[in-house]
Amino acid sequence: MARFNGKVALVTGSSNGIGRATAVLLAQEGAKVTITGRNSERLEETKQEILKSGIAADHVLAVVADLATEEGQDKLINSTIQKFGRLDILVNNAGTAFIDSQGRVGIDQDVSDYDKVMRINMRSVVTLTQKAKEHLVKAKGEIVNVSSVAAGPQAQPDMMYYAMSKAALDQFTRSTAVNLIQHGVRVNAVSPGGVTTGIGEAMGLPAGAFEKMASFWESHKECIPSGKIGEPVDIANVIAFLADRKLSSYIIGQSIVADGGSTLVMGMQAHDMMSILTS
Ligand code: NDP
Repeated sequence: MARFNGKVALVTGSSNGIGRATAVLLAQEGAKVTITGRNSERLEETKQEILKSGIAADHVLAVVADLATEEGQDKLINSTIQKFGRLDILVNNAGTAFIDSQGRVGIDQDVSDYDKVMRINMRSVVTLTQKAKEHLVKAKGEIVNVSSVAAGPQAQPDMMYYAMSKAALDQFTRSTAVNLIQHGVRVNAVSPGGVTTGIGEAMGLPAGAFEKMASFWESHKECIPSGKIGEPVDIANVIAFLADRKLSSYIIGQSIVADGGSTLVMGMQAHDMMSILTS
């Protein structure tokens, strides 16, 4: 029997990247999944990838929604419960970063970018978790948040607001874990290092810029000791482990780093990434 048989999972940000790989994996391992994002075409691509694995169409619910809005979040939870009748696994994966239109970084970056990044990377996680809580308590379910190695403890002057949002998310993971374990719900997180996804494009970087940075990191052992940028499935495997109570039941409120060894050396910080991205 597949390990997630009978479980229902909601994976935010599953129209691309890490969320897509996670939704496909959980579905392949037996879960019914709600997939979501704002981009309906990319969401359909995720759905087709799931169906290609031979999974029944009624095991997948695709919901186009803007997670930055309460209406979008209500639609997501309500339609999941309406279709599948329960919720066992919430993966708070949707997230992004914003580069300043005038190239400013750190404390000079416009504060509107701070508001935007906190709204999607942090506030939406708080409110979606609030809305999902009663269903997860009923199911004695699991929450997996997608953080980042950018959360620290190293400084992130080029991506300060993004890093701050992920540091806040780590505290949210720890605190809600203690809150919710009293109701039988486990909360954990994964902290990826660099992973090839759509995030470069979503941030507003020019085409190919993220890939350029990835190949720079791969060829510098002080950036990624393993010499390889992550693939979405590398992170999806950790998320599935944390969502699997049989395998990870005694892990509560932790964030597991999956980064090819980057945080052991953190040489990325020694290079001026903005000049690599824009040269
Ligand atoms: P992608 O850009 O490939 O995917 C991001 C997903 O989030 C998309 O499905 C996007 O959907 C969704 N999303 C963004 N904003 C919204 C919104 N307002 N409403 C609904 N959905 C939204 O990036 P990744 O897969 O890389 O990112 C996934 C997570 O991984 C993020 O939290 C990111 O911070 C984290 N991460 C990524 C790393 C990397 O190197 N790639 C490293 C460390 C952490 P749509 O565009 O359809 O709305």
